[in-house]
Amino acid sequence: MSHGKRCTTSVWFVTDLPDIDQFRKEARVWLEQNAEALPEADKSDDEEQEVQWGQGSDNVAIFHNYTDEHELERLNAVKAWQRKKFDAGYAMINWPEDVGGRGLPATYVRAYTTEESKFRIPSAGELPPTSMGLIATTVGAFGTPEQKEMFVKPLMSMEICGCQLFSEPSAGSDLASLTTRAVRDGDEWILNGQKVWTSGARFAEWGLAITRHDFDVPKHKGMTAFMVPLNAPGVETRAIKQMSGGANFNEVFLTDVRIPDSLRLGPVGEGWKVALTCLGFERDHSSGSTSSHTGGTYKQVIAAAEWAGVANDPIIRQSLADLYIQHKVAQLTNRRAAAGLRAGQTPGPEGSLGKLMWTANMTRVSNVISQILGTRLVADNGEWGTYAWNEHILGAPGYRIAGGSDEVQRNIVGERVLGLPPEPRVDKDVAFSEAQRLARK
Ligand SMILES: Cc1cc2nc3c(=O)[nH]c(=O)nc-3n(C[C@H](O)[C@H](O)[C@H](O)COP(=O)(O)OP(=O)(O)OC[C@H]3O[C@@H](n4cnc5c(N)ncnc54)[C@H](O)[C@@H]3O)c2cc1C
Repeated sequence: MSHGKRCTTSVWFVTDLPDIDQFRKEARVWLEQNAEALPEADKSDDEEQEVQWGQGSDNVAIFHNYTDEHELERLNAVKAWQRKKFDAGYAMINWPEDVGGRGLPATYVRAYTTEESKFRIPSAGELPPTSMGLIATTVGAFGTPEQKEMFVKPLMSMEICGCQLFSEPSAGSDLASLTTRAVRDGDEWILNGQKVWTSGARFAEWGLAITRHDFDVPKHKGMTAFMVPLNAPGVETRAIKQMSGGANFNEVFLTDVRIPDSLRLGPVGEGWKVALTCLGFERDHSSGSTSSHTGGTYKQVIAAAEWAGVANDPIIRQSLADLYIQHKVAQLTNRRAAAGLRAGQTPGPEGSLGKLMWTANMTRVSNVISQILGTRLVADNGEWGTYAWNEHILGAPGYRIAGGSDEVQRNIVGERVLGLPPEPRVDKDVAFSEAQRLARK
């Protein structure tokens, strides 16, 4: 279906967009035919749902504690759903038509996702959002026409999955210090190094790797990005067991991995630009929301306090009031940010605060539930809604680190929003090899 002139970046000159109410109606009909509607109570913002103590699942885990078999089963369910969605034209609503999208503005994506949120849709950890939200979009931004053809539709239909091979043991917050080496050999590149914390790598076919091809220029200038097939000889993936149980993350070792130059994403030396673009998509994805389905809600904490008979304890009451206030502040700030975007405003300071408020509230939930449940958190005596919180408490710190740690987010707010003096960057104009030598001294 064509709608006349498309967009240039985010500016639309379109006169014949489909009617959005009609679009929403068609989406709802399709969803009704293909997915199970959630019960009425579950359709509201999940923060606002009443909690019936002892009823339903008491799972409040942030990272799941599944076996690989179970994880794969869940991933396959997501793939089957995504394939249906792709075939029906709802997987690439705002992608350009030349890569297989419908070329519609983001308001149509929001219209679809609002409808979809009323249905039971399979979900499976971090790999699907990474693969579609970060890797496909970055290939869309930097890929050659051949690369877009090769990756975008297969990633968006989840025929293949891609993970993010960025962090290394000595390069996390300061990602530009990475040392995975890429050496050119004719039409090929040879990669050597180690990546870490790679979400979903055991179930992904591809990884977007940022490497260093030149150690003798300042650190941001010597990087190049590649799409790496994870079944290539020399790629070894090892699971990392988490303290909350499960193994969502991995180490990925690259030893003399040969890949063709045709898998280079973006120009040689532009790897930092590729990384920043991907991290920008990640920030948008992990900016959080108080209606997130991850972990527990303040209503669940209040229900636990009532069940434990401590809701009137003056200290607990104070903590519950604080939790409620902070959740409401975050919720209203998120709504303000969303309304601003809908009205066509550029993202303001609210957007930068989103992730910080989300992780701060997750931590608050952990702290208050710990006050309430105390020793019930350390041994599973079979009581509903008690020991299960253990997985929340052990998982919450992970999101204070993922997608830019709290401290790094605060630096961003300080520098870009408040205009405070930037952190000293002593290695900015120094060759990376020299900066490393000085750091070792
Ligand atoms: C749940 C989760 C999923 C992840 N998934 C992926 C993935 O799929 N792919 C991938 O490549 N990586 C992934 N990561 C890694 C993640 O990007 C890094 O953990 C993160 O960038 C922090 O790096 P680091 O762990 O090396 O900590 P470091 O950078 O060593 O930081 C250590 C501490 O120092 C603080 N710090 C560092 N620099 C500053 C500064 N300038 N100012 C103030 N404080 C500072 C940090 O806030 C932190 O508290 C994931 C991590 C988590 C927790």
